[in-house]
Amino acid sequence: MIDLRSDTVTQPSQAMREAMVQAEVGDDVYGEDPTVNRLEATAAQLLGKEAGLFVPTGVMANQLSIKLHTRSGDEVIVESSSHIIRFEGGSASALSQVQLSCVPGDRGILALNPVQAAWRSKNVHNPCTTLLCLEQTHNVGGGSVYPLKTIETLTSWAKAQGVACHLDGARLFNAVVASGISAAEYAQYFDTVSFCLSKGLGAPVGSMIVSTLENIEKLRRLRKMFGGGMRQVGILAAAGLFALEHNISRLKEDHEHAKQFALQLQQIPTVFVDPDRVETNIVVFEVVRSDRSTPELLQAFKEAGVLLNAMGDRVFRAVTHLDVDGVDIEKAAQNLGSVLSA
Ligand SMILES: *Cc1c(COP(=O)(O)O)cnc(C)c1O
Repeated sequence: MIDLRSDTVTQPSQAMREAMVQAEVGDDVYGEDPTVNRLEATAAQLLGKEAGLFVPTGVMANQLSIKLHTRSGDEVIVESSSHIIRFEGGSASALSQVQLSCVPGDRGILALNPVQAAWRSKNVHNPCTTLLCLEQTHNVGGGSVYPLKTIETLTSWAKAQGVACHLDGARLFNAVVASGISAAEYAQYFDTVSFCLSKGLGAPVGSMIVSTLENIEKLRRLRKMFGGGMRQVGILAAAGLFALEHNISRLKEDHEHAKQFALQLQQIPTVFVDPDRVETNIVVFEVVRSDRSTPELLQAFKEAGVLLNAMGDRVFRAVTHLDVDGVDIEKAAQNLGSVLSA
């Protein structure tokens, strides 16, 4: 089975597992886990921030950041197809009592004008707009990379209105590798930045938040409140450190595989895909002129040994990662071709 559903399906490598076994640990709620402390310092340094916080999931990283920057009744500007609105179980409204103002972007990338239009002036009738969240790379946007200039434009406008900025950088390092722009260059525009260790970086669990020392102290308290204070968690932090040391630059291979996959899919007459839009490790493609429904197609792909996720009506997403190589990709595209010509 070639599993292209997500880059979350990666298995920890033998070398990563050995690093986990060797990890020195302590009680992290007391701040006494040396491996967690090292991971938090490493992440902060890599992103040019004062401090870092290890959290179990990317959802928790986003939700703690929303809690930090808002008060109940506030409004948060997000992109309409962002992870925060689509895939976090409604937690921003449940846990922080905020409402989300959804602004559509182009493949997930927001432009200044519609964001300005979504901002509410300070008036007794209006909710207070207190936070702007961007997503790098944009998942539903097809792994699109936010241009640095756009980030600068959006965040400098937000700051001038007193609106805080959070980056959901679940796949920030895919953007770093694709653009050659450092994580710190991207991070400088944001008050808080989160990123996942458990996706393309190949760790089994974990995400990071980085920010000022003052914010991280508040986030540490909120993490406890949300039930995310963990004990001898250096075992997991060791996997994260291993991921940061070994698995960043190799993301380039995932991007090459995604491009290769799109170019091969383009040869199938009933597939619409634009390989020029494949910027990182995500390929979005549409099956056209098919009598089969989306679930029927997914089942047929599965029977041909390829696992994918659907994104819409006969629109599918394939994500490349460190457990698939060029041979797998070639085979996956061939098998999809056979299914679609049958
Ligand atoms: C995966 C992902 C997250 C976090 O997901 P978890 O499964 O909670 O780690 C957040 N934002 C984006 C854009 C993601 O793709």
